[in-house]
Amino acid sequence: MSDFDYDLFVIGGGSGGVRAARVAAGEADAKVAIAEESRFGGTCVIRGCVPKKLMVFASGYGEMIADARAFGWDVGEGDFDWKSFQSKLSDELDRLEGVYQRLIDNSGVDRFDQRAIVKDAHTVELADGTTKSAKHILIATGGHPVRPDLENANLGIVSDDIFDLPKLPKTILIIGGGYIACEFAGVFNGLGVETTQYYRGAQILRGFDEEARGLIAEEMKTNGVDLHCGTDIIEMSEAEGGIRVKATNGTERVFDKVLFATGRVPNTKGMGLEDADVNLGRKGEIQVDEYSQTNVPSIYAIGDVTDRVNLTPVAIREGMAFVETVFKGNPTKPDHDLIPTAIFTQPEMGTIGIAEEDAEEPIEVYATSFKAMHSAFAGRTDRVMMKLIVSQESRKVLGCHIVAPNAGEMIQLAGIAIKMGATKEDFDRTVAVHPTMAEELVTMREPVRRT
Ligand code: NDP
Repeated sequence: MSDFDYDLFVIGGGSGGVRAARVAAGEADAKVAIAEESRFGGTCVIRGCVPKKLMVFASGYGEMIADARAFGWDVGEGDFDWKSFQSKLSDELDRLEGVYQRLIDNSGVDRFDQRAIVKDAHTVELADGTTKSAKHILIATGGHPVRPDLENANLGIVSDDIFDLPKLPKTILIIGGGYIACEFAGVFNGLGVETTQYYRGAQILRGFDEEARGLIAEEMKTNGVDLHCGTDIIEMSEAEGGIRVKATNGTERVFDKVLFATGRVPNTKGMGLEDADVNLGRKGEIQVDEYSQTNVPSIYAIGDVTDRVNLTPVAIREGMAFVETVFKGNPTKPDHDLIPTAIFTQPEMGTIGIAEEDAEEPIEVYATSFKAMHSAFAGRTDRVMMKLIVSQESRKVLGCHIVAPNAGEMIQLAGIAIKMGATKEDFDRTVAVHPTMAEELVTMREPVRRT
Protein backbone atom coordinates (compact mmCIF):
# COMPACT_ATOMS: atom_id res chain seq x y z
CA MET A 1 0.00 0.00 0.00
CA SER A 2 1.25 3.46 -0.91
CA ASP A 3 1.59 6.07 1.86
CA PHE A 4 0.12 8.65 -0.48
CA ASP A 5 -3.51 9.45 -1.38
CA TYR A 6 -2.56 9.09 -5.05
CA ASP A 7 0.22 7.68 -7.21
CA LEU A 8 -0.27 10.67 -9.51
CA PHE A 9 -1.92 14.07 -9.12
CA VAL A 10 -2.26 15.98 -12.39
CA ILE A 11 -2.81 19.74 -12.25
CA GLY A 12 -4.43 20.98 -15.46
CA GLY A 13 -7.15 19.32 -17.53
CA GLY A 14 -6.01 20.21 -21.04
CA SER A 15 -4.94 17.81 -23.77
CA GLY A 16 -1.63 16.85 -22.14
CA GLY A 17 -2.85 16.49 -18.56
CA VAL A 18 -5.99 14.54 -19.42
CA ARG A 19 -4.07 12.10 -21.62
CA ALA A 20 -1.41 11.49 -18.97
CA ALA A 21 -4.05 10.96 -16.26
CA ARG A 22 -6.11 8.54 -18.36
CA VAL A 23 -3.18 6.48 -19.56
CA ALA A 24 -1.58 6.27 -16.11
CA ALA A 25 -4.88 5.04 -14.63
CA GLY A 26 -6.02 2.89 -17.55
CA GLU A 27 -2.81 1.28 -18.71
CA ALA A 28 -0.58 1.39 -15.64
CA ASP A 29 -3.26 0.86 -12.98
CA ALA A 30 -2.12 3.93 -11.08
CA LYS A 31 -4.38 5.72 -8.58
CA VAL A 32 -4.80 9.10 -10.26
CA ALA A 33 -6.52 12.45 -9.64
CA ILE A 34 -6.80 15.50 -11.87
CA ALA A 35 -7.76 19.10 -11.08
CA GLU A 36 -8.89 21.80 -13.49
CA GLU A 37 -9.93 25.30 -12.45
CA SER A 38 -11.67 26.24 -15.70
CA ARG A 39 -13.12 23.78 -18.21
CA PHE A 40 -11.85 20.31 -19.09
CA GLY A 41 -10.33 20.28 -22.55
CA GLY A 42 -8.05 23.24 -21.89
CA THR A 43 -6.86 25.84 -24.35
CA CYS A 44 -7.01 23.59 -27.40
CA VAL A 45 -10.60 22.47 -27.01
CA ILE A 46 -12.20 25.41 -25.23
CA ARG A 47 -10.44 28.55 -26.48
CA GLY A 48 -7.85 27.53 -29.04
CA CYS A 49 -7.39 25.04 -31.87
CA VAL A 50 -10.94 23.66 -31.98
CA PRO A 51 -13.08 26.84 -31.90
CA LYS A 52 -10.45 28.57 -34.07
CA LYS A 53 -10.65 25.88 -36.74
CA LEU A 54 -14.45 26.00 -36.70
CA MET A 55 -14.17 29.76 -37.24
CA VAL A 56 -11.73 29.14 -40.09
CA PHE A 57 -14.35 26.87 -41.67
CA ALA A 58 -17.09 29.47 -41.12
CA SER A 59 -14.97 32.21 -42.66
CA GLY A 60 -14.33 30.19 -45.83
CA TYR A 61 -17.93 29.98 -46.97
CA GLY A 62 -18.04 33.46 -48.54
CA GLU A 63 -15.38 32.42 -51.03
CA MET A 64 -17.03 29.04 -51.52
CA ILE A 65 -20.33 30.71 -52.41
CA ALA A 66 -18.51 32.85 -55.00
CA ASP A 67 -16.76 29.74 -56.31
CA ALA A 68 -20.06 27.88 -56.48
CA ARG A 69 -21.38 30.58 -58.80
CA ALA A 70 -18.25 30.29 -60.94
CA PHE A 71 -18.93 26.56 -61.20
CA GLY A 72 -22.41 27.18 -62.49
CA TRP A 73 -24.51 27.09 -59.32
CA ASP A 74 -27.26 29.63 -58.94
CA VAL A 75 -26.69 30.83 -55.38
CA GLY A 76 -27.23 34.22 -53.76
CA GLU A 77 -24.87 36.21 -51.55
CA GLY A 78 -26.23 35.26 -48.14
CA ASP A 79 -25.19 36.80 -44.83
CA PHE A 80 -23.18 35.47 -41.94
CA ASP A 81 -25.09 35.32 -38.67
CA TRP A 82 -22.57 35.48 -35.80
CA LYS A 83 -25.16 34.72 -33.12
CA SER A 84 -26.34 31.57 -34.84
CA PHE A 85 -22.76 30.36 -35.39
CA GLN A 86 -21.77 31.27 -31.84
CA SER A 87 -24.62 29.34 -30.30
CA LYS A 88 -23.73 26.21 -32.32
CA LEU A 89 -20.08 26.70 -31.41
CA SER A 90 -20.95 26.93 -27.74
CA ASP A 91 -23.03 23.72 -27.93
CA GLU A 92 -20.15 21.95 -29.65
CA LEU A 93 -17.65 23.04 -27.00
CA ASP A 94 -20.05 21.88 -24.25
CA ARG A 95 -20.28 18.53 -26.00
CA LEU A 96 -16.51 18.19 -26.27
CA GLU A 97 -16.02 19.21 -22.64
CA GLY A 98 -18.52 16.51 -21.68
CA VAL A 99 -16.57 13.97 -23.72
CA TYR A 100 -13.39 14.91 -21.84
CA GLN A 101 -15.13 14.67 -18.47
CA ARG A 102 -16.56 11.25 -19.31
CA LEU A 103 -13.20 9.98 -20.54
CA ILE A 104 -11.68 10.95 -17.21
CA ASP A 105 -14.51 9.50 -15.13
CA ASN A 106 -14.63 6.26 -17.12
CA SER A 107 -10.93 5.68 -16.67
CA GLY A 108 -11.31 5.73 -12.89
CA VAL A 109 -9.49 9.04 -12.38
CA ASP A 110 -10.76 11.25 -9.52
CA ARG A 111 -11.81 14.59 -10.98
CA PHE A 112 -11.63 17.88 -9.05
CA ASP A 113 -13.33 20.84 -10.76
CA GLN A 114 -11.26 23.44 -8.95
CA ARG A 115 -7.86 25.08 -8.85
CA ALA A 116 -4.98 23.16 -7.34
CA ILE A 117 -1.53 24.39 -6.40
CA VAL A 118 1.66 22.72 -5.24
CA LYS A 119 2.20 22.75 -1.49
CA ASP A 120 5.40 20.72 -1.42
CA ALA A 121 7.13 17.93 -3.33
CA HIS A 122 4.31 15.46 -2.57
CA THR A 123 1.32 17.64 -1.65
CA VAL A 124 -1.30 19.48 -3.67
CA GLU A 125 -3.72 22.00 -2.15
CA LEU A 126 -7.16 22.43 -3.67
CA ALA A 127 -9.06 25.73 -3.76
CA ASP A 128 -11.48 24.42 -1.10
CA GLY A 129 -8.53 24.15 1.31
CA THR A 130 -8.20 20.37 1.31
CA THR A 131 -4.84 18.80 0.60
CA LYS A 132 -3.99 15.59 -1.24
CA SER A 133 -0.71 13.74 -1.13
CA ALA A 134 0.76 12.14 -4.23
CA LYS A 135 3.84 10.13 -5.05
CA HIS A 136 4.16 12.12 -8.30
CA ILE A 137 2.75 15.50 -9.31
CA LEU A 138 2.36 16.38 -12.98
CA ILE A 139 1.88 20.04 -13.87
CA ALA A 140 0.11 20.61 -17.17
CA THR A 141 -1.40 24.06 -16.65
CA GLY A 142 -0.67 25.44 -20.13
CA GLY A 143 -0.33 29.13 -20.86
CA HIS A 144 -2.35 32.26 -21.49
CA PRO A 145 -2.19 35.15 -23.95
CA VAL A 146 -0.50 38.38 -22.88
CA ARG A 147 -0.96 42.01 -23.84
CA PRO A 148 2.11 44.18 -24.44
CA ASP A 149 3.28 46.60 -21.78
CA LEU A 150 1.32 49.57 -23.13
CA GLU A 151 -0.91 52.11 -21.42
CA ASN A 152 -4.63 51.22 -21.83
CA ALA A 153 -3.73 47.81 -23.26
CA ASN A 154 -6.76 46.41 -21.43
CA LEU A 155 -8.96 48.17 -24.01
CA GLY A 156 -7.84 45.47 -26.41
CA ILE A 157 -8.98 41.85 -26.41
CA VAL A 158 -6.91 38.65 -26.56
CA SER A 159 -7.65 35.39 -28.36
CA ASP A 160 -9.54 33.95 -25.34
CA ASP A 161 -12.17 36.70 -25.73
CA ILE A 162 -12.94 36.19 -29.42
CA PHE A 163 -15.42 33.35 -29.05
CA ASP A 164 -17.54 35.33 -26.57
CA LEU A 165 -17.80 38.57 -28.57
CA PRO A 166 -21.45 39.69 -28.34
CA LYS A 167 -21.32 40.79 -31.98
CA LEU A 168 -18.80 40.85 -34.79
CA PRO A 169 -16.97 44.18 -34.99
CA LYS A 170 -17.14 46.20 -38.22
CA THR A 171 -13.42 46.91 -38.01
CA ILE A 172 -10.60 45.18 -36.15
CA LEU A 173 -6.91 45.85 -35.69
CA ILE A 174 -4.78 42.81 -34.99
CA ILE A 175 -1.37 43.32 -33.39
CA GLY A 176 1.27 40.63 -33.98
CA GLY A 177 2.60 38.49 -36.78
CA GLY A 178 2.61 34.99 -35.25
CA TYR A 179 0.26 32.03 -35.67
CA ILE A 180 -2.66 33.55 -33.77
CA ALA A 181 -2.49 37.00 -35.37
CA CYS A 182 -2.30 35.64 -38.91
CA GLU A 183 -4.93 32.95 -38.43
CA PHE A 184 -7.46 35.40 -36.98
CA ALA A 185 -6.68 38.02 -39.61
CA GLY A 186 -7.91 35.46 -42.16
CA VAL A 187 -10.92 34.51 -40.03
CA PHE A 188 -12.17 38.06 -39.43
CA ASN A 189 -11.50 39.08 -43.01
CA GLY A 190 -13.42 36.06 -44.27
CA LEU A 191 -16.36 36.87 -42.01
CA GLY A 192 -16.60 40.33 -43.55
CA VAL A 193 -14.87 42.34 -40.81
CA GLU A 194 -12.63 45.12 -42.14
CA THR A 195 -9.31 43.72 -40.90
CA THR A 196 -6.06 45.60 -40.36
CA GLN A 197 -2.90 43.91 -39.04
CA TYR A 198 0.21 45.59 -37.66
CA TYR A 199 3.36 43.53 -37.27
CA ARG A 200 6.53 45.12 -35.91
CA GLY A 201 8.93 42.90 -37.91
CA ALA A 202 9.78 42.84 -41.60
CA GLN A 203 7.65 39.80 -42.48
CA ILE A 204 4.90 37.85 -40.69
CA LEU A 205 5.37 34.29 -39.34
CA ARG A 206 8.96 34.73 -38.23
CA GLY A 207 10.90 31.48 -38.16
CA PHE A 208 9.09 29.79 -41.05
CA ASP A 209 10.42 29.42 -44.61
CA GLU A 210 10.78 32.88 -46.12
CA GLU A 211 9.28 32.05 -49.49
CA ALA A 212 6.26 30.46 -47.80
CA ARG A 213 5.64 33.37 -45.47
CA GLY A 214 6.10 35.80 -48.37
CA LEU A 215 3.40 34.03 -50.37
CA ILE A 216 1.02 33.89 -47.39
CA ALA A 217 1.48 37.63 -46.75
CA GLU A 218 0.85 38.40 -50.40
CA GLU A 219 -2.30 36.24 -50.55
CA MET A 220 -3.61 37.65 -47.27
CA LYS A 221 -3.34 41.15 -48.74
CA THR A 222 -5.00 40.03 -52.00
CA ASN A 223 -7.82 38.53 -49.93
CA GLY A 224 -8.37 41.90 -48.28
CA VAL A 225 -6.35 41.97 -45.06
CA ASP A 226 -4.79 45.41 -44.68
CA LEU A 227 -1.40 44.10 -43.52
CA HIS A 228 1.32 46.51 -42.44
CA CYS A 229 4.71 45.06 -41.58
CA GLY A 230 7.32 47.18 -39.84
CA THR A 231 4.43 48.82 -37.97
CA ASP A 232 3.53 48.73 -34.29
CA ILE A 233 1.02 50.32 -31.97
CA ILE A 234 2.38 53.16 -29.81
CA GLU A 235 -0.72 54.55 -28.11
CA MET A 236 -4.31 53.54 -27.56
CA SER A 237 -7.25 55.32 -25.96
CA GLU A 238 -11.01 55.19 -25.79
CA ALA A 239 -12.71 57.10 -28.59
CA GLU A 240 -16.24 57.72 -29.79
CA GLY A 241 -17.32 54.40 -31.33
CA GLY A 242 -14.17 52.46 -30.63
CA ILE A 243 -10.49 52.58 -29.79
CA ARG A 244 -8.13 55.22 -31.14
CA VAL A 245 -4.74 53.81 -32.12
CA LYS A 246 -1.57 55.68 -32.93
CA ALA A 247 0.98 53.65 -34.85
CA THR A 248 4.67 53.90 -35.66
CA ASN A 249 3.79 54.57 -39.32
CA GLY A 250 2.40 57.96 -38.30
CA THR A 251 -1.28 57.00 -38.66
CA GLU A 252 -4.03 57.53 -36.12
CA ARG A 253 -7.18 55.48 -36.65
CA VAL A 254 -10.24 54.33 -34.73
CA PHE A 255 -11.08 50.61 -34.69
CA ASP A 256 -14.10 48.84 -33.17
CA LYS A 257 -11.82 46.24 -31.62
CA VAL A 258 -8.10 45.75 -31.12
CA LEU A 259 -6.85 42.16 -30.77
CA PHE A 260 -3.49 41.59 -29.15
CA ALA A 261 -1.96 38.39 -30.53
CA THR A 262 1.40 39.19 -29.03
CA GLY A 263 2.38 35.85 -27.56
CA ARG A 264 1.55 33.56 -24.66
CA VAL A 265 3.18 32.88 -21.30
CA PRO A 266 3.18 29.77 -19.11
CA ASN A 267 0.62 29.49 -16.28
CA THR A 268 2.93 29.25 -13.28
CA LYS A 269 1.98 32.32 -11.24
CA GLY A 270 0.60 31.59 -7.78
CA MET A 271 1.11 27.86 -8.25
CA GLY A 272 3.34 27.48 -5.19
CA LEU A 273 6.23 26.45 -7.39
CA GLU A 274 8.79 28.87 -5.96
CA ASP A 275 7.98 27.66 -2.43
CA ALA A 276 8.40 24.06 -3.57
CA ASP A 277 11.80 25.06 -5.04
CA VAL A 278 10.84 24.14 -8.62
CA ASN A 279 13.16 25.90 -11.08
CA LEU A 280 11.46 28.36 -13.43
CA GLY A 281 12.88 30.02 -16.55
CA ARG A 282 12.85 33.67 -17.64
CA LYS A 283 9.27 33.57 -19.02
CA GLY A 284 8.06 31.69 -15.93
CA GLU A 285 8.21 28.34 -17.72
CA ILE A 286 8.89 25.21 -15.67
CA GLN A 287 12.34 23.92 -16.46
CA VAL A 288 12.41 20.19 -17.15
CA ASP A 289 14.89 17.60 -18.39
CA GLU A 290 14.38 15.38 -21.45
CA TYR A 291 11.99 13.18 -19.44
CA SER A 292 9.86 16.18 -18.38
CA GLN A 293 11.19 15.93 -14.82
CA THR A 294 11.80 19.12 -12.83
CA ASN A 295 14.66 19.62 -10.38
CA VAL A 296 12.26 18.31 -7.68
CA PRO A 297 12.30 14.57 -8.52
CA SER A 298 8.62 13.89 -7.71
CA ILE A 299 7.35 16.83 -9.82
CA TYR A 300 7.07 16.64 -13.61
CA ALA A 301 5.67 19.12 -16.14
CA ILE A 302 4.42 18.79 -19.73
CA GLY A 303 2.91 20.99 -22.44
CA ASP A 304 2.91 24.76 -22.85
CA VAL A 305 3.79 25.34 -19.19
CA THR A 306 7.29 24.10 -20.09
CA ASP A 307 7.47 26.31 -23.22
CA ARG A 308 9.21 23.70 -25.37
CA VAL A 309 7.13 23.19 -28.54
CA ASN A 310 3.74 24.72 -27.77
CA LEU A 311 1.43 22.45 -29.74
CA THR A 312 -1.38 20.18 -28.51
CA PRO A 313 -0.10 16.95 -30.11
CA VAL A 314 3.32 17.60 -28.58
CA ALA A 315 1.83 18.01 -25.09
CA ILE A 316 -0.01 14.71 -25.59
CA ARG A 317 3.22 12.96 -26.63
CA GLU A 318 5.01 14.44 -23.63
CA GLY A 319 2.22 13.15 -21.37
CA MET A 320 2.45 9.65 -22.81
CA ALA A 321 6.25 9.61 -22.56
CA PHE A 322 5.90 10.68 -18.90
CA VAL A 323 3.58 7.74 -18.13
CA GLU A 324 5.88 5.35 -20.00
CA THR A 325 8.87 6.60 -17.99
CA VAL A 326 7.34 6.88 -14.53
CA PHE A 327 4.62 4.22 -14.47
CA LYS A 328 5.73 1.61 -16.97
CA GLY A 329 9.43 1.42 -16.16
CA ASN A 330 10.35 2.31 -19.72
CA PRO A 331 12.31 5.61 -19.76
CA THR A 332 11.05 7.48 -22.84
CA LYS A 333 12.00 10.94 -24.09
CA PRO A 334 9.34 12.77 -26.10
CA ASP A 335 10.65 13.23 -29.64
CA HIS A 336 10.76 16.92 -30.56
CA ASP A 337 12.47 16.38 -33.87
CA LEU A 338 10.76 16.89 -37.25
CA ILE A 339 7.30 17.88 -36.02
CA PRO A 340 4.83 18.51 -38.84
CA THR A 341 2.47 21.39 -38.20
CA ALA A 342 -0.19 23.48 -39.90
CA ILE A 343 -0.96 27.16 -39.70
CA PHE A 344 -4.56 27.85 -40.52
CA THR A 345 -3.97 31.08 -42.32
CA GLN A 346 -5.81 31.71 -45.57
CA PRO A 347 -4.03 30.29 -47.53
CA GLU A 348 -3.11 27.48 -45.16
CA MET A 349 0.47 26.35 -44.57
CA GLY A 350 1.72 22.87 -43.78
CA THR A 351 5.34 22.59 -42.80
CA ILE A 352 7.94 20.17 -41.46
CA GLY A 353 11.68 20.40 -41.03
CA ILE A 354 14.05 23.23 -41.82
CA ALA A 355 13.38 26.45 -43.67
CA GLU A 356 15.66 27.08 -46.66
CA GLU A 357 17.41 29.86 -44.74
CA ASP A 358 18.24 27.55 -41.82
CA ALA A 359 20.18 24.93 -43.79
CA GLU A 360 23.56 24.20 -42.25
CA GLU A 361 24.77 21.99 -45.09
CA PRO A 362 24.75 22.19 -48.89
CA ILE A 363 21.16 21.84 -50.11
CA GLU A 364 19.09 21.69 -53.25
CA VAL A 365 15.81 23.57 -53.29
CA TYR A 366 12.90 22.24 -55.30
CA ALA A 367 9.98 24.63 -55.50
CA THR A 368 6.97 25.33 -57.62
CA SER A 369 4.18 27.86 -57.42
CA PHE A 370 1.07 27.58 -59.54
CA LYS A 371 -2.65 28.29 -59.80
CA ALA A 372 -4.60 25.32 -58.48
CA MET A 373 -7.16 23.80 -60.86
CA HIS A 374 -10.13 24.72 -58.68
CA SER A 375 -9.07 28.37 -58.26
CA ALA A 376 -8.12 28.80 -61.90
CA PHE A 377 -11.55 27.57 -63.00
CA ALA A 378 -13.25 29.84 -60.48
CA GLY A 379 -11.33 32.80 -61.93
CA ARG A 380 -9.32 33.46 -58.77
CA THR A 381 -5.72 34.61 -58.89
CA ASP A 382 -4.40 32.81 -55.78
CA ARG A 383 -1.37 30.58 -56.11
CA VAL A 384 -0.21 27.57 -54.15
CA MET A 385 3.38 26.58 -53.36
CA MET A 386 5.17 23.26 -52.87
CA LYS A 387 8.77 23.30 -51.71
CA LEU A 388 11.32 20.66 -50.73
CA ILE A 389 14.71 21.29 -49.11
CA VAL A 390 17.04 18.39 -49.94
CA SER A 391 20.48 17.57 -48.53
CA GLN A 392 23.01 17.42 -51.35
CA GLU A 393 25.01 14.82 -49.51
CA SER A 394 22.48 12.41 -47.96
CA ARG A 395 19.69 13.25 -50.49
CA LYS A 396 17.29 13.28 -47.53
CA VAL A 397 14.36 15.69 -47.60
CA LEU A 398 15.18 18.05 -44.73
CA GLY A 399 12.18 20.33 -45.06
CA CYS A 400 8.82 20.47 -46.82
CA HIS A 401 6.68 23.60 -47.00
CA ILE A 402 3.24 23.66 -48.57
CA VAL A 403 1.04 26.73 -48.97
CA ALA A 404 -2.28 25.53 -50.33
CA PRO A 405 -5.87 24.72 -49.36
CA ASN A 406 -5.75 21.77 -46.94
CA ALA A 407 -1.96 21.98 -46.63
CA GLY A 408 -2.36 20.67 -43.07
CA GLU A 409 -3.83 17.43 -44.38
CA MET A 410 -1.03 17.08 -46.94
CA ILE A 411 1.83 17.72 -44.52
CA GLN A 412 0.57 15.06 -42.12
CA LEU A 413 1.20 12.45 -44.81
CA ALA A 414 4.38 13.93 -46.29
CA GLY A 415 5.56 14.15 -42.66
CA ILE A 416 5.53 10.35 -42.28
CA ALA A 417 7.89 9.91 -45.23
CA ILE A 418 10.18 12.70 -44.06
CA LYS A 419 10.23 11.41 -40.49
CA MET A 420 11.23 8.01 -41.92
CA GLY A 421 14.18 9.70 -43.64
CA ALA A 422 12.85 9.70 -47.22
CA THR A 423 15.22 10.96 -49.91
CA LYS A 424 14.31 13.09 -52.89
CA GLU A 425 14.62 9.92 -54.98
CA ASP A 426 12.04 8.19 -52.75
CA PHE A 427 9.66 11.06 -53.49
CA ASP A 428 10.48 10.74 -57.22
CA ARG A 429 9.79 6.98 -57.22
CA THR A 430 6.29 7.58 -55.93
CA VAL A 431 3.68 7.79 -58.68
CA ALA A 432 1.75 11.06 -58.80
CA VAL A 433 -1.89 11.12 -57.77
CA HIS A 434 -3.54 12.98 -60.61
CA PRO A 435 -5.03 15.57 -60.81
CA THR A 436 -4.15 16.92 -57.37
CA MET A 437 -2.07 19.77 -56.01
CA ALA A 438 0.09 17.44 -53.92
CA GLU A 439 1.29 15.54 -56.98
CA GLU A 440 3.76 18.39 -57.54
CA LEU A 441 5.66 17.07 -54.51
CA VAL A 442 6.72 14.02 -56.54
CA THR A 443 7.11 15.61 -59.96
CA MET A 444 9.65 18.39 -59.35
CA ARG A 445 12.61 17.29 -61.49
CA GLU A 446 15.17 20.11 -61.39
CA PRO A 447 16.25 22.10 -58.35
CA VAL A 448 15.57 25.84 -58.58
CA ARG A 449 18.74 26.51 -56.54
CA ARG A 450 21.73 24.81 -55.02
CA THR A 451 23.21 26.59 -52.02
P1 NDP B 1 3.86 33.96 -31.28
O1 NDP B 1 4.95 34.00 -30.29
O2 NDP B 1 3.89 32.99 -32.39
O3 NDP B 1 3.70 35.40 -31.94
C1 NDP B 1 3.63 36.57 -31.18
C2 NDP B 1 3.67 37.75 -32.14
O4 NDP B 1 3.48 38.96 -31.43
C3 NDP B 1 5.00 37.86 -32.85
O5 NDP B 1 4.74 38.27 -34.17
C4 NDP B 1 5.73 38.91 -32.04
O6 NDP B 1 6.65 39.65 -32.79
C5 NDP B 1 4.59 39.83 -31.66
N1 NDP B 1 4.85 40.54 -30.41
C6 NDP B 1 5.28 40.03 -29.24
N2 NDP B 1 5.37 41.01 -28.30
C7 NDP B 1 4.98 42.15 -28.90
C8 NDP B 1 4.86 43.49 -28.46
N3 NDP B 1 5.16 43.85 -27.23
N4 NDP B 1 4.43 44.41 -29.35
C9 NDP B 1 4.12 44.05 -30.62
N5 NDP B 1 4.22 42.81 -31.10
C10 NDP B 1 4.64 41.86 -30.25
O7 NDP B 1 2.55 33.84 -30.40
P2 NDP B 1 1.06 33.51 -30.74
O8 NDP B 1 0.33 34.19 -29.65
O9 NDP B 1 0.69 33.84 -32.14
O10 NDP B 1 1.00 31.93 -30.59
C11 NDP B 1 1.49 31.30 -29.42
C12 NDP B 1 1.82 29.86 -29.70
O11 NDP B 1 0.64 29.12 -29.81
C13 NDP B 1 2.55 29.61 -30.99
O12 NDP B 1 3.94 29.77 -30.87
C14 NDP B 1 2.19 28.20 -31.31
O13 NDP B 1 3.09 27.34 -30.71
C15 NDP B 1 0.81 28.05 -30.70
N6 NDP B 1 -0.23 28.09 -31.74
C16 NDP B 1 -0.26 27.14 -32.71
C17 NDP B 1 -1.21 27.15 -33.69
C18 NDP B 1 -1.20 26.11 -34.75
O14 NDP B 1 -0.54 25.10 -34.60
N7 NDP B 1 -1.88 26.31 -35.88
C19 NDP B 1 -2.26 28.18 -33.73
C20 NDP B 1 -2.14 29.15 -32.67
C21 NDP B 1 -1.16 29.08 -31.73
P3 NDP B 1 8.16 39.15 -33.07
O15 NDP B 1 8.07 38.14 -34.17
O16 NDP B 1 8.86 40.39 -33.50
O17 NDP B 1 8.67 38.59 -31.78
